[in-house]
Amino acid sequence: MQEDNSQVGMAPNLLFSNMSYEMLQGPKKNVEKDITDPQCTNKNKSEAKLQIVWKNVLIFIILHSISVYSIFMLLTFQFKFSTVIFTYLNLMFAGFGITAGAHRLWAHRSYTANLPLRIFLMIAQSAALQNDIHEWVRDHRVHHKFTDTNADPHNASRGFFFSHIGWLMTKKHPDVLNKGKNIDMSDVLADPVVKFQMRFYVPLVIVCNFIVPTFIPWYFLGEDGYNSFILCIGRYVISLNGTWLVNSAAHIWGMKPYDKNIKPTENKFVAIVAFGEGWHNYHHIFPWDYKAAELGNYRLNFTTCFLDFMARIGWATDLKTASEEIINKRIQRTGDSHKRVNGIEDHHHDEGEAIWGWGDKDMNKDEVLAVTRMTRQKA
Ligand SMILES: [Zn+2]
Ligand SMILES: [Zn+2]
Repeated sequence: MQEDNSQVGMAPNLLFSNMSYEMLQGPKKNVEKDITDPQCTNKNKSEAKLQIVWKNVLIFIILHSISVYSIFMLLTFQFKFSTVIFTYLNLMFAGFGITAGAHRLWAHRSYTANLPLRIFLMIAQSAALQNDIHEWVRDHRVHHKFTDTNADPHNASRGFFFSHIGWLMTKKHPDVLNKGKNIDMSDVLADPVVKFQMRFYVPLVIVCNFIVPTFIPWYFLGEDGYNSFILCIGRYVISLNGTWLVNSAAHIWGMKPYDKNIKPTENKFVAIVAFGEGWHNYHHIFPWDYKAAELGNYRLNFTTCFLDFMARIGWATDLKTASEEIINKRIQRTGDSHKRVNGIEDHHHDEGEAIWGWGDKDMNKDEVLAVTRMTRQKA
């Protein structure tokens, strides 16, 4: 099992988690890079030999084949309408587990959630099967700190296919493992909800991602059990691809109004399919902003709509957002609102250390003071 270290954040990892290996046994022997050097990652090409994990390739081929079949069944009206509606709602539920939960809450600390909301988001995140919260957050923080370098798990410098799904079919670059071990995870590990999920992750995933979504349409909606299972897999694969587009398409195609020197872009299509996570140029500059965007409405940012509702009922507090002043300053300094950039050129990020979110010690002190923090009064 310990050879399968290819599975990281924004990815399914029920079967081959490498978390236990890294946590319990420390660094792998072949890791030799200087892990204290922030520039140790090269920008373009991989120095490490690409090692394909064929077992994962096979799993993804099977999953995608089933999902194509499920789409065919959908288009030929073989599912009950109520099953389709349920599946869409389930897609949103699991999606919020990733966007509002693993991403905006645990990875970036862009707001604070009370216990009921954290439990809800933990269950939703389990229903998405993209690694447990701890592992997801660790890899996502590394992605923000070392964006599009070899230490980035889904380094978009290596092309669309690699950043979308290829990275899940190959062993991790040594820089990813090195940097992953050094990233601050103390806040996440201090959360008992995260600890609970780590302990019971496999049964949670089996129940939340497979059994319940198959059982409900079959038992309550009168759907055929086989159909129900096929649509369950189809929904899972579609949600995976929606998430992966943030790593691939939103690092390649789109505008760069906030910082033209980085690869992440503003991509409306990704914003729609990933519930508001496509405003990625903005997000990489202000990762602690709970909206993960400056502009756009709820239709283009479902997750913000959900979080504003949670704030209204008092479950989400201390929602951080960037003031117009900070944003405009940044646009003037590094933005490029006129030129569409295809993302092929590899600019160096020279705006100091990238940060993973609220609480990162590299965060600019003036920026910390200028952040707008909101807590709504209970309705
Ligand atoms: Zn990104
Ligand atoms: Zn992020």
